[in-house]
Amino acid sequence: MFNKILIANRGEIAVRVNRTAQALGYRTVAVFSDADREAPHVHASDEAVRLGPAPAGESYLNTEAILEAARLTGADAVHPGYGFLSENAAFVSACSENGITFIGPPAHAMELMGSKRRSKDAMAQAGVPTVPGFQSTATDPSPWQKAADDIGYPVMIKASAGGGGRGMRLVHEPSALADELARARSEAESAFGDGELILEKAIVRPRHIEIQVFADQQGNAIHLGERDCSVQRRHQKVVEEAPSPFVDDSMRQAMGDAAVKAAQACGYVGAGTVEFIVDEARNFYFLEMNTRLQVEHPVTEQVTGLDLVELQIRVAQGEALPLAQADVGIQGHAIEVRLYAEDPAQGYMPQTGPLHRWRPALGDGIRVDDGIREGGAVTPHYDPMIAKVVAQGPDRTSARMRLIRSLADTVLLGVTHNAWFLARILGHETFAAGEATTAFLDTEFLGDPSLSPLEPTTAEQALAALLLYRAGSTGPLEAHAGWSNSLPSACPILLTTGEHQQWVRLTSQQDCIDAQIGETRHQLRIESLEANELVVTLDGVRQKSQYQIVGSTLYCHAKGRTLRFVDATHAPARRADEQGSGDVRASMDGAVVEVSVTEGDRVQAGQTLAVLEAMKMEHPLKADRDGEITGVRVSTGDQVRTRQILMSVSVDASRDEENSNDE
Ligand code: ADP
Ligand code: ADP
Ligand code: MG
Repeated sequence: MFNKILIANRGEIAVRVNRTAQALGYRTVAVFSDADREAPHVHASDEAVRLGPAPAGESYLNTEAILEAARLTGADAVHPGYGFLSENAAFVSACSENGITFIGPPAHAMELMGSKRRSKDAMAQAGVPTVPGFQSTATDPSPWQKAADDIGYPVMIKASAGGGGRGMRLVHEPSALADELARARSEAESAFGDGELILEKAIVRPRHIEIQVFADQQGNAIHLGERDCSVQRRHQKVVEEAPSPFVDDSMRQAMGDAAVKAAQACGYVGAGTVEFIVDEARNFYFLEMNTRLQVEHPVTEQVTGLDLVELQIRVAQGEALPLAQADVGIQGHAIEVRLYAEDPAQGYMPQTGPLHRWRPALGDGIRVDDGIREGGAVTPHYDPMIAKVVAQGPDRTSARMRLIRSLADTVLLGVTHNAWFLARILGHETFAAGEATTAFLDTEFLGDPSLSPLEPTTAEQALAALLLYRAGSTGPLEAHAGWSNSLPSACPILLTTGEHQQWVRLTSQQDCIDAQIGETRHQLRIESLEANELVVTLDGVRQKSQYQIVGSTLYCHAKGRTLRFVDATHAPARRADEQGSGDVRASMDGAVVEVSVTEGDRVQAGQTLAVLEAMKMEHPLKADRDGEITGVRVSTGDQVRTRQILMSVSVDASRDEENSNDE
């Protein structure tokens, strides 16, 4: 038995491994970087040791610091999670040299499978079907050219040491091959420190289907069925499920047998995943083996009832697998989605930002693996995946319905994320029919609104205006018990969403509030207003929404969409650019009713310079920096347009004078 398990990872996977380790009765040790001092994985463990500064190279990838943490705490086993050092054979050896058990496969299996070239050769030799291709250490293009002609275009160039979907190139014609090879080689060199390449036939409209395998030190090896991970962006998975809607019993058995053969061929121990690419005719080909726990392992746990981390620990301790192939049963269906801090509307660009509110929606059949906390932040240092939401049900449709519902109710306010995008995928007819291939997101899904900047509906704008008005007029909403459905007078609110600005005019009606947006009107009645939750009857339908107000920014979650609005009603006049040219612009279309300064006046930030009237309300335009007024271009009574420059505030020239007086 181990004494103590050190978890050499962070985020959701560190929390998840810790949960099982503690449930089995072990003491646990977390490690953390300066960016993660208060992270959930640190709090969940029994002890924790600082590794170093935030960058992964100085913390979670720092072998010496991790071994020192084990020494310091007396940990005699290390679970690497996934990513970071989990597939680093040198780390496995370093652990064993220090008398620490690495919970994972032996270094030699990891080394073999870490090379796409060597592993494909080994698999072909073991009789496992591989993608038709060419593996060579030759750098001269001619054998590659000949191989590509034999394989047939299009072909895929891959970095042999690649991973995470990076370093792949699709080549459609012979004329482009030599150039692409050269480019791929230098890219692989800089990204993975190894320029070795492989060539593969590019399978058209394929599915990614992988088999979970398990082997013990006694030589037993089994598989736990498949996971379908065909929904990918940039060759990276976003939705995974078990079982695959494409796989029947005989195919499962054939793929399972091939995967077990692959594990045995490399002397595998512990949990591993054999990835296959499957063509339209259901031929399957070995892609690679991941020698670790996989991000998407929960779907296998949900349909087999097994705890894969428990099995990993038992096998690492020398116990035999507690079940044989015939004991593995698959029940029901499970689907996982990866919640990422990323913007699907900007090419899935990773996002950083605060986590003001995080309320995952649990419910029947829902499992959420997360490692974030309210008040924390997504930093630029690590992977942007923030949580996984998994739903299970007796069949695929019920799992899918539950997951859509859970995603719609999952509240994550602050950083931009992909929850709505994920729900739209699950609701898409191609996915619903079980027909998604790896091409799905770039083809059938392409026109989906979740791939464009969110355009708020007028109902969402009405809700936002109501919340921002209440916050602005009463201070923190939660402190204000006596809210009512009447307003002192007509209240125009200027909402900013992205590049878009919109006026919402709120007025009192008998016992509700009327919101007017252009030609559209909505009737709102506040039923209750508490810290972060508004219950409102909107056009006759009572509904809930969650929100958070930070300064003049409102984060609002309603009906599965998360929006961010800024109250620009009283915003100081905008400057022309981020550097601050000092230009004072009209915040809306309206009439200038007052000009309070003249050329040459010295003003301070926050001082009112002019007053604009629009929608029956006066809006002060304020200076947003200290300086001197120049270029006044308007006078009282002028009609102005949104963003029109009214005057400028130049850098305060008097400061230099003061300085010279001091001398
Ligand atoms: P899988 O096949 O399981 O998706 P990949 O080969 O894509 O695995 O690599 C695992 C992914 O997990 C990578 O994108 C990696 O950057 C990411 N990752 C690594 N460690 C963590 C972590 N602690 N939390 C979240 N994501 C991580
Ligand atoms: P990584 O190590 O980055 O995970 P993989 O070899 O597992 O690389 O491939 C990642 C993804 O790229 C696959 O899931 C699949 O979508 C796509 N892919 C890889 N090889 C091929 C191929 N030969 N034909 C078509 N798509 C492929
Ligand atoms: Mg892969």
